[in-house]
Order: sequence, then structure tokens, then C-alpha cells
Amino acid sequence: MVPLLALEFWGVRGCCRAFRGGEGLEGVGEPLAAEAPGVAPEGAESAPVAAEAAEPEPPPPPPPVWQGMVPPTPQKNLLHPDAPGVLQPTASGRLESAKFGSVRTANVGGKLVPRFHEGVDIAPTERDRKREPLDGVFAVADGRVAFVNGKPGNSEYGRYVVVEHADPSLGVVTNARGNCSTGTVYTLYAHLAEVRFGIREGREVKAGEELARMGHSAASGIPVDRSHLHWEVGLMLNPRYAGYTRANKITNVMGAYNGLNLFGIDPLDFYAAHARNPELAFAEYLETVKPAFEVLARRGHFPDFFAAFPSLWVGPRGNGEPFWLAFSESGMPLKGRLATAEEASALGNQRQKVWRADREVLGRNGRALVTQRKGKWELTDKGIRHLDLLFY
Ligand SMILES: [Zn+2]
Repeated sequence: MVPLLALEFWGVRGCCRAFRGGEGLEGVGEPLAAEAPGVAPEGAESAPVAAEAAEPEPPPPPPPVWQGMVPPTPQKNLLHPDAPGVLQPTASGRLESAKFGSVRTANVGGKLVPRFHEGVDIAPTERDRKREPLDGVFAVADGRVAFVNGKPGNSEYGRYVVVEHADPSLGVVTNARGNCSTGTVYTLYAHLAEVRFGIREGREVKAGEELARMGHSAASGIPVDRSHLHWEVGLMLNPRYAGYTRANKITNVMGAYNGLNLFGIDPLDFYAAHARNPELAFAEYLETVKPAFEVLARRGHFPDFFAAFPSLWVGPRGNGEPFWLAFSESGMPLKGRLATAEEASALGNQRQKVWRADREVLGRNGRALVTQRKGKWELTDKGIRHLDLLFY
């Protein structure tokens, strides 16, 4: 896989240079495949040089961002999460409740409903005499600090830090000025006791660099005995979330880094997949995440999400609608494309429709974006709001 990824990155760089040269100022995110046709035929290592003979010698491609991935705390046993003391369950004491997915239950108006847990809760390895954890919290890979919330009362995450990691596998994004960047993966570290001096927005961090100390901060409070790191890995749904919340009169002091705008994958599964293949790119990993439901939708414009992550879009973007979109159990968009003629006619003049859902993948369906009524799957109000945000 190394040569292939390296060549893909060459393709990205070539594209960037072309844009800096003043060509194609078409705004964000043309699909990578369309920008670098034939630049990197598989296995033909000399091809990029030949194709760009007039260009100055480019620097060697950097290693994949996840290559140097480290655990986010001194806990070294993340490949064996069921071993004693690795994860921190909720008050229920069920180990499952510390893991990712529909693993929790909430009491809503006297009714017990499944609830989704977006990350994994890692237990401390060391405490002081007052039971306060002493564990450091580390950036798991090279990246840039994107957000720091220093006021624990403002969020159920308490004090938290978000780091962004550029991953060329998610495609290249070019803005109107011709500057280009790649799609970014976020990692989030929550319930912190204190954020280390100098860890602020914009700061570049290295894999293993200490961001904070583990704690138990949260708006509603977590007892010291259940101190843990809540760790997430995922993608941002909409960078204009702050505008969306203003327009919908939703209180939001976290801007785009509000947890309601961040959609995760199972961090322990990603960590294990990376341990098996250190070259793993995020888009490759997403190929292994099973879609939980597929939606057909029309909203009059192309969703920005796929402009930010162009490699998740399949085929031409066109000017057309409607769209076919596949979502993970957590609600993360995994793939999108234009709807086929059959799908478009099934949608008719509706704004959205569940095309397919996988009961097994949905399991306890804690996210509750879709539901089955009289044998037919449909979007819940929450699911429709999710689409509205995706298209905002
Ligand atoms: Zn958690």
C-alpha cells in the first residue's frame, strides 16, 4: 500500500501546484480523480515525474498521517479493551457502556430509550491520594489544535480539545484563491482536568505531544471515581454549524466544534485496524464501516460535506439532483452520489426518503435518525434535521 498512497499524495500536490498557477479557480473541492487523471497509474512509480517534467522537483511525500499513531493516554492496552481497568463504564457498571455505539440507555419522560455514545471512555492508569487522575492526554497523530473549550460548564464534554489531522485520502479541497488543503479528520479529547500551557487554536502538535491532564469535567459533573478520557475520532458534518444554530435559534457557544456537529467512528476499531496496517488511511478505513441506512434527498444544492471530503463522493457531481447518501450508524455520511433514474423516480417530488436500512447494523438504533413504522423505514424528525444540517 505504501507506493499507492504515496502516488495518491503526489497527485494531490500536483493538483495544488496547478491551482496555484492560476488555473481552474472554481471554488472548493473538485473530486481528486477528476483533477489528476492518469497522474498515478498503479505501480508506475516514474509516471508522476514524467507527467510533471516541467515542474520543479517536488519534496518527497510525507508519511501517512496515522503512521505514527499513539494511544491518547498512558493506557497501552487499547487492543484489549475488555481487560480489567482499561475502560471506564458508566454508573451502570456495564463495560459495554464505555464503548462506542448504541451502548447506553437514557430515561426520557419515564421511558427508557437507547442512547448513542460517540466515543470511547478510557480509564486512568494512575491517581493521586484524592483519586484525581494523573494521566497525560496526548495527540494521537500529528495535527493542528482546532478548538479548545476551557469552560467545563459550557458542555457535557467539560474541558475539551479538538485536533485536526490532514488526511490526503479524503481528497483535496481548493478554495476560491487557489489555496489547497486536504480533508481533515478530527480527534477529540474530553472531560479534561486542565489543558497544558500553550495548547491553543492553531498550534501544530506532534503525535504523542501532551495536550492536557485527564479529569472528570462536564457540565453536569462526573464523580472523581469515574474520571476518564472520552476520546472521539471522526468528521465534521458542516463547517458552517454556527450559522445553522443561529438561524435555528439554538444556543451554541462552541461554534463548529459543538459535539452535535461532530460524527465519530469507533475509535477502538480504528486503533486496532491501524495496528494491523500502520499505513491505513482514513478513507480506506471508512470503506470498512458498514452503512446503516441510505437516503435519497433533494435540497437544491450540493452538500458542502462532500466538497470538504471529495473522495467520499462517487462519480460526477454534475448540477443535478437528487442525491443518494449512505450513513453510518452514528450518522456520519460515508458515501454520496447522484441518484440513479430508478432512485429518482422512487423519490418523486419528496424532499427525502429512506431508500434502505440495515436493521442489524442499526442494532439498538441509539441515534434514532431513522425508524420503522408499519414495516417501512422513514426518517425521524431528528433524521430530517440531520439532513437539513448536512445541506445547510
Ligand atoms: Zn464518553
